[in-house]
Order: sequence, then structure tokens, then C-alpha cells
Amino acid sequence: MMIKKTHIYIFIIFNILFCINKNQIDYKSIIQKSSHCPIDILSPALTENKLKKLINKRNLVRNQINNMNRENRDFLLIPVVFHNLHRENERSFCDYISGFGANGNYGAENNQEICTERALYALEILNEQFLSSGIQFIPHTEHPIMREITNQEYNHIASSNFNQIKQLYNFPNVLNIYLDYCIGSNTQECGSVSGMSTYPWSLDLNAPGIAITHSSFPGLNENKIAILPHEIGHYFSLLHINGIWFFNPDVPRELVNGDECELRGDLICDTPGQPGYGGGNSFFTNIYNDERICIYQGFNGSYNPDIQNLQIGGSNHDQIIGSYTYSNQDDNGDFWGTYNLPSYCFNENQEDFATNCNIENYENLPHAINFLQTVIVSQYCGRRGYHEYDPGEGYTTEQFENIRYSAETDYTGCINENSDNYSETYLINNLQTCLFSGYYSGDINQDNIVDISDITLLINYIWELIIFSELEFQLADANLTENINVADIVMIINYIIYN
Ligand SMILES: [Zn+2]
Repeated sequence: MMIKKTHIYIFIIFNILFCINKNQIDYKSIIQKSSHCPIDILSPALTENKLKKLINKRNLVRNQINNMNRENRDFLLIPVVFHNLHRENERSFCDYISGFGANGNYGAENNQEICTERALYALEILNEQFLSSGIQFIPHTEHPIMREITNQEYNHIASSNFNQIKQLYNFPNVLNIYLDYCIGSNTQECGSVSGMSTYPWSLDLNAPGIAITHSSFPGLNENKIAILPHEIGHYFSLLHINGIWFFNPDVPRELVNGDECELRGDLICDTPGQPGYGGGNSFFTNIYNDERICIYQGFNGSYNPDIQNLQIGGSNHDQIIGSYTYSNQDDNGDFWGTYNLPSYCFNENQEDFATNCNIENYENLPHAINFLQTVIVSQYCGRRGYHEYDPGEGYTTEQFENIRYSAETDYTGCINENSDNYSETYLINNLQTCLFSGYYSGDINQDNIVDISDITLLINYIWELIIFSELEFQLADANLTENINVADIVMIINYIIYN
């Protein structure tokens, strides 16, 4: 076992070093751009074979969407454990008050009840945010929702020690989320990283898991409810919305007209392409009449909220960062966000501003509000998916469906041939890497099929002939009301009819 682990570490270190040596300058510029969530630097590049698999899965999901009854399907319940990793008497998550990283303010009680309360509130937020994916997150019936870990060895989580930490503490068959006051990227230094995750296709090298800083935890700093769903999106296979073309030429950047969207950008077709770099004022994110307005405008573009007029930045305003040029135009010379825009909206001279028109005319602007948007945008515009802030959806239909699909294939015990982790030997050698099977609501007897036998159990429970375990109760509560009654029976009958 030891030998195997050593091999994995050497392989990871080799990958990181290789990545740096290959192109030092590019690497630095990527770090600057994505320091909040360095997933594409931490994960090994998608190999040709894995990319092909991912594209196939995306196509499959896209084809399913139209034939699917999304309203009448059962929920996939995923057990979660948060890990409160800290040194003795130092910066427990339960003591977090405010501030960031090493400068954060902390109490000293380490009151576990506060931790539990915060964890349950985060699940409540997540479950609203992920409702449309048919996924719900639940506490595990045998593990605490917030697990207390003191370990003097780690000052804080960093990309260099995260895998080791996960190997030590991951519970099998749950989504493991680690909390720390700070996350270091490839160095141990406390940097500006607010979260990180593993991709499903790198699980042969990395134990699965998510890390998030205290200050980015949902519900504590009210602007920060987008970071955890962002990381969970990666965990379930989503790439950043601007794609990975700036360091992976196998996945070229998107086209404004959407052609070949299945092979380009984020491989998702209902998220329009955008320049790649989300800063440099390519988005309007100002507050107007007490409301945050989030609109794509292109580099040096201009949005006027008084008259709702949008001028998309023109051809003279490329942004050069490191050795990459981020342009207002795609490889066809089309301006981002102008697909199907009426011709009268385009300027004759497009050097300064490409367009000039009322916002209503722009039907295909990049989505300013999306959990997988770049941090520069999402830190302003990410208050999404929870009724107290902005009840709108933080993911598109295709993104939601890919999340559900990944949860069902990549994380279902490696026995599904479409899973990245499919391996006959995993079941014998490495059950931990095999992850969770999840639970389907309605499948009270957990035989992987929702049928009349589950309804019989439910009726018997209502008649008080049997009692349910905590898990059985959760599975029987199909409509998530924390109450079991006839409405749950109706819902489960619907699952049977429609699936
Ligand atoms: Zn990310």
C-alpha cells in the first residue's frame, strides 16, 4: 500500500513540475487569473482518451435533455461530511467570525453546535441551488455532519498536502468537504485561493474531495454563496465557463455562433462563449438603484443602466496577459455576445465599440451570473440560487444535467462502464476510490429500483405497522418536506410512471 501511495505522489509532483517547466510564463499568468480556484493547474491535463469520454458524455446528456421528464424524477441523495481541520486551540471553523485567511477574526470556544448549525444551513443553501439537478445533499446517518479534526502537522491545506489529508481522513461513500482558514496553491503560502476540488477524471491520481476556506463558506459572508456550488460543479465534471483553451489546445475556445460547441470551451452548448479572461472590465458589475447589475460588455465596452443601452467593446481592445491575448472577437472575427443580434445594432466602425443597442436585442450574451463564471465576476454576481438572496438558477439546464449524470456515473462505485473510474479491480482493491453510490429518493429498501415494494413499505409506515431508520425516512420523504404522508406516495408513483 505504501509503495502504491509513493508512486502516486511522485506522479503528481512530476505532473506539477512538468507543467511549470514546460511553460513558466504561461503557468504564472494562469495562476494570476485563476488563483481563487486553481483546479486546472492542480489537475493533470485531460488526456486525449479522457477528453473523448467527456465529450461523449456531454453529447449523451444533451440528447437526453429533450426526452427527459425533469419534473418527475427521483432525487439522488448524496451524503456529505464537512471536515473541520485545524490545530489545537487555533482557528476552528466553529470560532470563525469574520475576515480572510490569517487575518480572520476567531473566538476560542470551539463550540461544535455552532459548527453543526453552520453545516446544516450550508446544506439548506446547496439543496436550493442544486434542486434542478435532481441532487440533494444529506448528512450521513453514521458520521457527524461536521467532523472535528485537530492535527498539528498541517498549518493549513495546500495543493501539496491536500491529497495526503484526504487519504488520511476521507470517509468512504460520502462527499468529503474540508474547511480551513486558508488554502495554499502549489506553495504552502496562504494565498487567495478560496476553494478547490478534484475532477472526476483525475480520481485515479487524487482522492476525491473539496476544500473551501472559512470566509468562503456559504451563509457566513453573504456574497460568498457561489464558491461551494462552484467547487461542487467541478467535482461533478464541469469546467470553468470560459473553457481551458489558454493552456489546453485540444479544447479550442468557443465560437460566437455556437458552432462545434460540443468540442469547444466548456463543452456545454447552452453557455455562450466569452473571451476567456473574465476581468479587465469585460463585465459590467456595478450597483444601480441598490441592485447589482451583471452584464457582459466586452473589454472596454459600456453599459448604461439608465437607458439600458449596451455597447460591446470593439476590435481595438485586446487584453494581453502573459503570452495570451484575450480578444473581444472569436476566431471567426465575431464579437462575443452578438450572435443573432439585429444588423442595425452593429456599428459601422467597430474599433472602439462593436455594437450600440438596447439590451433587449442581445439574446446570446455570455452568462454573467453562473457558478462557473470566473471569480472576478462571481464574487460580485454569484448570490444565486437561494431564496434569501437571488432565487434564480446558478447553472444552466445542460450544466445541471451534466452534474446529475456525473454523480450517477463517475461516482457510482466504478461498476458503471461510463464511469471514469470504471474498473473491475477497483471493487476489490480500492473501494474508497469507488466513491458513493448515492441514494435515490423513493428507493426505501435500497435495492436500486423504485417500485411497488417501496410503496408497500411507505403505506406500512403510515399505518404505523413498521418504523423507519433515519435513512429510510429520508428516502421515503420523496417531496423533501420532512414529513411522510400521501403526497410522498403520489410522488413515488410518479417516479415509477415517468421513469
Ligand atoms: Zn473553479
